[in-house]
Amino acid sequence: FERVTVVGGGLAGCECACQLADRGVSVLLREMRPAVSSPAHRTSRLAELVCSNSLKSTRVDSAAGLLKEELRRMGSVLLACAERAAVPAGGALAVDREVFSREVEDEVASRPLIEQQRGEVTSIPDGPCVIAAGPLCSAALSRQVLDLVGGDALSFFDAAAPIVDATTIDRDVVFAQSRYDERGGGDYLNAPFTKDEYDVFIDALVSAERVVLKDFERRELFQACQPAEEVARTGHDAIRFGAMKPVGLIDPRTGKRPWAAVQLRAENAECTAYNLVGFQTNLTFSEQKRVFRMIPGLERAEFFRYGVMHRNTFVDAPRVLDKTFAVPGTRIRLAGQITGTEGYTEAIASGLLAALNTYADLSGAPRVELPVTGALGSLVAYATDRATEDYQPMHVNFGVVPPLSDGVRRSKRDRYAAYSSRALGDLDAYLASRAELFPSRG
Ligand code: FAD
Repeated sequence: FERVTVVGGGLAGCECACQLADRGVSVLLREMRPAVSSPAHRTSRLAELVCSNSLKSTRVDSAAGLLKEELRRMGSVLLACAERAAVPAGGALAVDREVFSREVEDEVASRPLIEQQRGEVTSIPDGPCVIAAGPLCSAALSRQVLDLVGGDALSFFDAAAPIVDATTIDRDVVFAQSRYDERGGGDYLNAPFTKDEYDVFIDALVSAERVVLKDFERRELFQACQPAEEVARTGHDAIRFGAMKPVGLIDPRTGKRPWAAVQLRAENAECTAYNLVGFQTNLTFSEQKRVFRMIPGLERAEFFRYGVMHRNTFVDAPRVLDKTFAVPGTRIRLAGQITGTEGYTEAIASGLLAALNTYADLSGAPRVELPVTGALGSLVAYATDRATEDYQPMHVNFGVVPPLSDGVRRSKRDRYAAYSSRALGDLDAYLASRAELFPSRG
């Protein structure tokens, strides 16, 4: 096989390199640190975890736990490293970050087919290549990626609003209506506020605890986009003239325009998940749960993902990448957070998938399209679906898996368990049909 260059010795890049080597493909793994560092990395080690040391839940009836089980069944190298580096963390997989990096470095070093090269990559390498340079991809390489994918298809910030589970929205309060559409119905859901409810909500919003941004983020981020709480802070009524404006809405319960409204927009065609329009936020996750449950009709809302705002380089995957995260017409594939999938475990998964697809390309096999019922398959489908508008980074969650079609009413826990068992059954069947991608198992 031709040698593959993997750019970035982070989570996605290291998984990808190991998986390719295990299939007989030689790899040049290029990492810029220590010569050039990112604003968040602190060491020169491979697979450095830049923030939390948690890879999230291990419960297989959660999306994060399901992803781990999928990775295990596909033979992930870095998941095994994380399990060897685990520290006690209840139902989560948390690691000693030093031990984790050392485990990954040992795995990489033990594969003679991987050559490591340190130093910044400033132009896209020739030949087959996987770019896994992460959310803090260096400026020179970001420019090259921008040229590759075109004009406005590369973002430098992630400003995502929270997403709620549609089944937990109180539809007696929240009503469907597009602005100025007097017939009712329409694409948006609206949570109406009275003046008193608005006053209490704004007080909570502006006084809630926020995530402390790193300096580089504070400087750059707010030039791009204001968090909802910052808008509210500029004046008690400011957000009522912005994201919460009630104009063009009539609350069917009162027949009148509400004092203010939060609009919710569907995340997918099945309308199983809705985002809070204009509510990109820096509140801590626990405060988001407390404050956003004060929105009328969302008192019992469950969140598929919380809002975030941070520096994050990612491409507009639904428009510029194919279903395997390759740039169409090239031999370049993207992996990890630069594709807009978010999270440590997601980055590992994306590196594994990039390796399988690159190996499929090199060996003339069909590309890998995982079942969309899975945690990873549904995330990839979401991230590469042209219907996905205003693409913002997304971690695995059950809001993007297709609904169960058996018509059975279930509790949330049972529904999630059913998603997981459907996903693992479909994955097993798919993997059994693609044995050529796992030569060492034969
Ligand atoms: P990385 O792990 O960052 O790896 C990319 C590698 O590419 C780095 O080693 C980098 O040095 C290298 N590189 C960059 N440019 C070049 C170049 N030009 N040439 C050569 N090498 C290059 N996710 C979580 O699940 N939990 C968290 O707590 C969390 N916290 C985060 C905090 C911050 C500040 C950021 C930015 C992201 C965070 N994420 C978190 C999101 C994400 O999951 C991680 O960033 C994850 O490490 C992404 O994996 P990756 O392999 O895509 O990128």
